[in-house]
Amino acid sequence: TLELILHSEKLSIAGQLAAGIAHEVRNPLTAIKGFLQLMQVPLDNSTYVEIIKSEINRIEIILSELLILAKPQDVKFNEENLNTLIQEVKTLIDTQAIMQNIQIEFANQIGNLTISCDKNKLKQVFINFFKNSIEAMPNGGTIIIEIKKHSKNNAKITIQDTGTGIPKHILKKIGQPFFTTKEGGTGLGVMISKQIIENHNGSLQFWSDKKGTIIEVILPLNNKQ
Ligand code: ADP
Ligand code: MG
Repeated sequence: TLELILHSEKLSIAGQLAAGIAHEVRNPLTAIKGFLQLMQVPLDNSTYVEIIKSEINRIEIILSELLILAKPQDVKFNEENLNTLIQEVKTLIDTQAIMQNIQIEFANQIGNLTISCDKNKLKQVFINFFKNSIEAMPNGGTIIIEIKKHSKNNAKITIQDTGTGIPKHILKKIGQPFFTTKEGGTGLGVMISKQIIENHNGSLQFWSDKKGTIIEVILPLNNKQ
């Protein structure tokens, strides 16, 4: 098994910039898309129009991913049950998983770890990781989730898949903006997830070999526990 601790450069300024640019670019893009749909296009040009539309769609996907990044004034932390939060994400993903012959299981069920978090942002993090695991198992497989108390003040969430695994030279690049090995991938999921985790004072670690990948997320427990 090989290991990589993702460097924890603070991307907050870059994150704010990205969110700003994403907003600014999205409005004109929506207008262009609308007018494109209204235009009477000669048949000859229809393939070009299709290419333009699909490129606009791709830009929209990238922008919506970037917009997930926190704007500081939007950050709202509440007490949440970690197990419930992850159960809710599992429910969201389950249908897609089953269709691709993937079982999502809990390794254990300890009920009541409470964390202080921005629930929707943290859900986005786990959606990103489950999606990556599913995409790494084109022929089906298993995802095992473990949630446990890691130390006095931390919870540890482990997501283990039986996917393709990540070669060492690629492991180094994961989390860099726009780094993807997928056709049509955005290469933003891990970067955004890592930033959200760091905004929660947590950390992220990948372990991988040919048998699959393990993602470890450490998050501080609510101090009342
Ligand atoms: P994207 O999913 O759009 O490619 P991500 O930032 O989510 O972007 O992931 C970046 C890359 O990390 C992926 O293209 C893939 O190569 C690798 N990766 C992430 N998670 C896994 C996993 N569970 N198994 C195998 N490879 C993974
Ligand atoms: Mg992804």
